[in-house]
Amino acid sequence: MLVLVVNAGSSTLKCQLIETDGKKSLMKSLAEKIGQSDATMSLQFLPDGQKKRYAIGGVSIDRCLEKVLELMVSEPGSPISSLEDLDAIGNRIVSGGEYFDRSVIIDDETFPLIRKCEALAPLHNPPADTCIKMMRRMLPETPQVAVFDTAFHQSMPAKAFMYPLPMKYYEKYHIRRYGAHGTSHRYAAQRAADMMHRNIKHMGVITCHLGSGGSICAVEGGKSIDTTMGFTPLDGLMMGTRSGSLDPAIVTYVMRHERLTYDEMDRILNKQSGILGISGTSADMRDVTEAAHAGDERAQLAIDMYVHAVQKAIGSYYALMTHTDAVVLTAGIGENSAELRERIFAGLAHMGMILDKERNDFTGAIGEDRIVSIDDSPIKIFVVTADEEMRIARDTAALVMGEDVH
Ligand code: ADP
Repeated sequence: MLVLVVNAGSSTLKCQLIETDGKKSLMKSLAEKIGQSDATMSLQFLPDGQKKRYAIGGVSIDRCLEKVLELMVSEPGSPISSLEDLDAIGNRIVSGGEYFDRSVIIDDETFPLIRKCEALAPLHNPPADTCIKMMRRMLPETPQVAVFDTAFHQSMPAKAFMYPLPMKYYEKYHIRRYGAHGTSHRYAAQRAADMMHRNIKHMGVITCHLGSGGSICAVEGGKSIDTTMGFTPLDGLMMGTRSGSLDPAIVTYVMRHERLTYDEMDRILNKQSGILGISGTSADMRDVTEAAHAGDERAQLAIDMYVHAVQKAIGSYYALMTHTDAVVLTAGIGENSAELRERIFAGLAHMGMILDKERNDFTGAIGEDRIVSIDDSPIKIFVVTADEEMRIARDTAALVMGEDVH
């Protein structure tokens, strides 16, 4: 099935054309700084087309998506000749609120509920909804699916998702833990079960999505029972530019003393903190690792704090589950940094998570799902490739073919 995956952000639009039977990506496009005068877009047909760039200054997100569609049929080398060739569209939606515990076909019943979730992700959901509307108008016969970052975590019990605030804030504003990276955690846990030839329904798995954003999830019996991201993706682990969890009193303290507005404080917590805030040089773990090797003490502190936060979360989920069979690492840092994996598990061997140095260091296996623990480690450690676009495409194809995706 030929699926166009649409991932709309606050100022970015990522699209991928995926052939789900062969699990192949046929086209990738990325638009950045949407709405600004210097906005640009790149588009490339895969595997070996040339990456072309286009200026899209001042263009709105739906117009930008229209341009991707136009280029997809008009550019030489495109695998499709008409938009009718598209079998389905898969949309990534950041928040599904409390309405959605799985991916759904977008229709007159579900779309109004999707729109109701806009207040929970005001930067991300509205542009995604704008794209859905445009596609419904332009290709009314092509089925569209919504895949939510939050859906997998809807299985969390109230004791995990409630914040200890006055109840009225949950009732009035739906303030609770929603989590994120749901498609990634669901897939990572399932891959661990596959690689252990076990039924996920009888397993406890801790999944660690460690990219520029990061979250950890306790998956028991195939269901999320707790996760580190919260009401928003700011909660939990220290990340590239996000602070993660901190004493909430710090927020009002800094705002009062620096006379900051809400938006300024929001920016500090989301864009200027985390690895960037501590290292002072970069939000990118590769740069920070390099700087630490060269003796930069702030870079070293940023790495030490990051490792500490990951260890603390893994340990707390170990304590929460009735048993733990596997830990899975995925996304940029989890997949590629043998050094960080070594640091993380050096502190966790006493819990039965024992890394195999040789397997962990073997660079020839990068890009392949694999085990990196020793053979008799009581808890197995896996590295799994996160490919969220492929997951979205597969959910989309399954729903369109009438299969269940839960
Ligand atoms: P996102 O999709 O959220 O942008 P990714 O999953 O691509 O994030 O992860 C990006 C992060 O992974 C960056 O911090 C990057 O430095 C880090 N990363 C990628 N490769 C390596 C590596 N070899 N060593 C350390 N960090 C790496």
